[in-house]
Amino acid sequence: MGIHFDKKRLITSLISALLLIILTASVLKWRTGNINNYSQAAFIMGTVFSLDINSYGDDPTGDLIAIGNRLEHDLLSHRISDSEISLINGNSGTPEGYPLTAEMEEILTTCLQISADSNGAFDITIGALTDLWDIDGWASGENDGEFIPPSADMISDALSHCGYEKVRIEDHRIYMPEGMKLDLGAIGKGIYLDECRSYIQENQTTNDLSGIIAAGGSILTLGEKEGGWTIGITDPFNSGEIYDKLSVSGYRNTSTSGSYERFVEYRGVRYHHIINPLTGYPTGCAEDNNKDYSASVTIISDSGLMSDALSTACFVLGETKGRELAKKYGADIYVIPEK
Ligand code: AMP
Ligand code: MG
Repeated sequence: MGIHFDKKRLITSLISALLLIILTASVLKWRTGNINNYSQAAFIMGTVFSLDINSYGDDPTGDLIAIGNRLEHDLLSHRISDSEISLINGNSGTPEGYPLTAEMEEILTTCLQISADSNGAFDITIGALTDLWDIDGWASGENDGEFIPPSADMISDALSHCGYEKVRIEDHRIYMPEGMKLDLGAIGKGIYLDECRSYIQENQTTNDLSGIIAAGGSILTLGEKEGGWTIGITDPFNSGEIYDKLSVSGYRNTSTSGSYERFVEYRGVRYHHIINPLTGYPTGCAEDNNKDYSASVTIISDSGLMSDALSTACFVLGETKGRELAKKYGADIYVIPEK
């Protein structure tokens, strides 16, 4: 009887061991045999999005590009007439407000919180000012050589249509004063990177994927790389060069805001695209005489939206207050001061 029992146990153990070996071997084969590099670039949200992904699974780049196009067209771009943000802007001043999708409500609520925390340095209600300065026009080259800075009166008129504290979100509806226009240009790329991360984490075994997604000046690193990921920080005084390198590991968001990214010149004065909502002028330019003005600010955090919003906010706040705000949000900050 005893012998029979031991035999049975032995056979069961052998079968289990054999199964384990087969399973391990097939997993190892799968992990080492099928890694592929997938890269793709596309022009989205007025800039280049580039994806470089090593994956044991399917090619995710097509779906990730489609996510960028959907966000730009359906949700975020104030240049596209039937995007949600354009419909919201077109209904400013209506007493019954305008309904928000859950996705937009979450984005706008977060933005209003960052506005309050930055004392209005970050403010998505500055659409009237970005229109007045014609920031989109500089990028498209439409107004090359024709730029004339707006007058103080025009700026104070546009300022009267701005102000995050005048916006109310209630029962999934937004209420804004007439003439107010939302501009999500400071955070679109960060929102995109958050969507990419969710997509990857839902659709792939994250351990089997690594790479970098760059959406203009906003970058998401994916997974681990030996020695960490190296992020080059553009030299704000010579934008063809790298000023410094930062090392990050795992899933991290890095976003840079700088005066070199978009600008125009008039009579030897440079005007850039990041507006100080308190004065209506580009931060540190002309009447905006902020003495603590930075040439570029980089934020590293776990959220795309946060790093993108904070890089803009900290640029406007200047180095001292910018560092305080980054600390409040638990984000890392790298500042290159203006010369
Ligand atoms: P970024 O390059 O990410 O700092 O974003 C700059 C873009 O955000 C500009 O092109 C404007 O569309 C918008 N913007 C400019 N100034 C501000 C501000 N103070 N707060 C929020 N958005 C801004
Ligand atoms: Mg930004």
